[in-house]
Amino acid sequence: MSQTAPVDQAERWRQLDVDHHLNPFSDYRSLKKEEGGSRIINRAEGVRLYDVEGQELLDGMSGLWCVQVGYGQPSIVAAVSQQMEELPYYNSFFKTTTPPTVELAGTLARLTPDGLDRVFFGSSGSESNDTVVRLVRWYNHVLGRPEKNQFISRNKAYHGSTMAAASLGGLTGMQTAYGLPLPGFHHVMPPYSFELANEGESDEEFGVRAARAVEEKILELGAENVAAFIGEPVMGAGGLMVPPETYWPEIVRICREHDVLLIADEVICGFGRTGEWFGCQTYGFTPDIMTLAKGITSGYLPLSAVMVSDAICEVFEEKGGEFAHGYTYSGHPTVCAAALANLRLLEDGIVERCSKEIAPFFQERVRKLADHPMVGEVRGVGMLAGVELVRDKASRARWDDDSTAGLLTRDACLRNGVVSRAIGDTMVLAPPLVTEPEDLDRMVTRLERSIDDAYGELRK
Ligand code: PMP
Repeated sequence: MSQTAPVDQAERWRQLDVDHHLNPFSDYRSLKKEEGGSRIINRAEGVRLYDVEGQELLDGMSGLWCVQVGYGQPSIVAAVSQQMEELPYYNSFFKTTTPPTVELAGTLARLTPDGLDRVFFGSSGSESNDTVVRLVRWYNHVLGRPEKNQFISRNKAYHGSTMAAASLGGLTGMQTAYGLPLPGFHHVMPPYSFELANEGESDEEFGVRAARAVEEKILELGAENVAAFIGEPVMGAGGLMVPPETYWPEIVRICREHDVLLIADEVICGFGRTGEWFGCQTYGFTPDIMTLAKGITSGYLPLSAVMVSDAICEVFEEKGGEFAHGYTYSGHPTVCAAALANLRLLEDGIVERCSKEIAPFFQERVRKLADHPMVGEVRGVGMLAGVELVRDKASRARWDDDSTAGLLTRDACLRNGVVSRAIGDTMVLAPPLVTEPEDLDRMVTRLERSIDDAYGELRK
C-alpha cells in the first residue's frame, strides 16, 4: 500500500522543510536537520498513514483529533471535485450566499441540539472562538450593557492559537511570552481530578467543587461584568480531562443563575467523538453557543462553525445594527460541500455504530492498560482516552522531569507503528470513529509496548 519516495526526493523534501518551513508548535532548534528533520507523510488510507520511507503508522490521533471518517473516502473527494467545477469559490458577504453554504447551515441546525439554529462559518477552531468573543461582546453592546464583557475559562483549556483564542485558553506556555491573556479573560481550576482532587474527596464532590470555582470567579468579578463561560465538554489538548458527572449540571445552574452565557467548545468533542453527536449531549446540557471545527469535514478541508441560539439571534434581529465581522472564506462553497459529504457518512451509520459498538470496545480495551506498573490512571469517553504515566502507582508521583516519560513513550509509539500524543505525561488516543476493533486492539497493544519500552529506559 505504501508509496516509498526515492531517497533523493525524500531528502529534498526534508531539506526544503528545514530551510523554509516554520512548522506550528515546534522548537525551531530541534527541527534542524542534524537532529533528524521532520517525518514526511505522503499517503493515507483508512486509519493508516504512510511516510516517505514507507513506514506504516496506525493513526491513533485521527490527524489532530479530526479525521472521524478515516482517510480516502471517495464520496467526499467526488463532492469536492464536483463543487470545484460548478463554483469553486464565492463569498457570503453583503447579502450573498451559495447552495452548499445554506444546505450545510440547515444540516447543522438539524443535527445540533434544539434552539441552536443559526450558524456563522469560519475556517478553523481558533477563528470560531475569536468569532464567539466578538459576537458575545456585540450581543451585550446591542443590549446596552457593554460592561458585561469578561470571559471565564479554565486553566489548561485549549481554544486555539489566535490572540483571543489563546487568551480564552489556559495554557501558560502559549501566553506568558506573548503578552497574553488579553485583558478580560479569566481562568479557574479545570475538572482534573487526577491531580486536583483532595484526599478522600469523591468524584461527585470534586465535580461540584470544580464547577463552583466558576461561580466564585463570577462573584469576584461581579455578574454584571461577566459575559460568558467557555469550556470543552471533555478537555482535550490540555490533557484529556473527563469531567465528573456532577460538573456540567452545576455549571449550567451557575451560568443560568448569574445570567452568564454558556459556550461549549465542541471543536474536538463534536461529531461523534464522545459517543453522542455532541459532547454537550453526552453530559446532558444545551449551551447558548457552540463552536465546531475538525470533525465537521473530518479534516478533508478547513472549516469551522459557530452555532448561535435562537434567543441571541432574536436580539440581533429585533435591535439591528451590523455585526462587523467575517472572513473571506466564511461559508466557502467547496469546503461546505466537503462537510455535507462527510456529515452524510457520519449520519449514514458511522456515529451510531461507533457509539454502540466501536467506542465501548475501545474504552474496555484501553482500560486494561491500568494494570501496567507505570500507569496511574486510564480515563476516557467515546473515542477519547488518556493514560497517565507515573513513577509510583500508589502515590501517583510523576517521573522527576514531567513529560520525559511522555516523550519517550511517544517516540517509542512511532517506532512501534502507532501515533499517540504525549501531553506532559498523559498519553492520548483519539482514533477515527471507523477504526475496526482489531485495529483498535493493535493501537492499544502498540501503545502498551511503547510504555514498556519507556519504562525500561527510565529505570536504567
Ligand atoms: N478548540 C479546541 C477544543 C481545540 O482542540 C482546537 C484545536 N486543537 C481549537 C479550538 C483550535 O482549532 P484550530 O486549530 O482549527 O484553530
